[in-house]
Amino acid sequence: MIKSLQKKHPIRLPKVLKAAEGQECLANFPGCQGGYDVAFRHFNEGWAGKGAGQKADDCAGFYGCQHCENLYSGLLMNTPDWELFKPDQYFYLIRAYYNTVRRVIEMIQSGDLK
Ligand SMILES: [Zn+2]
Repeated sequence: MIKSLQKKHPIRLPKVLKAAEGQECLANFPGCQGGYDVAFRHFNEGWAGKGAGQKADDCAGFYGCQHCENLYSGLLMNTPDWELFKPDQYFYLIRAYYNTVRRVIEMIQSGDLK
């Protein structure tokens, strides 16, 4: 097995997770209503550190609202929003990831996140 794919010690960044509070939703998936219930939403992928009883790394996810989390995690299948999301989900995910990385860097540069 490729060493980088073996189980890793999880990266935990409590300050990055806490900084999600009060942010606008940076996922903006189909049907998103914007800024409410925003939290750091972890990727549901083994390559991102998710395992049995373990969330993905705290650097693997996005600042998203509950609606966008529900869409990503498959709770809204067979809805019009899902039909829009599904064929382009990797576009939506990489955009959400980029928006989140950029926001975290902005907060570090401005001194709001230390
Ligand atoms: Zn959203």
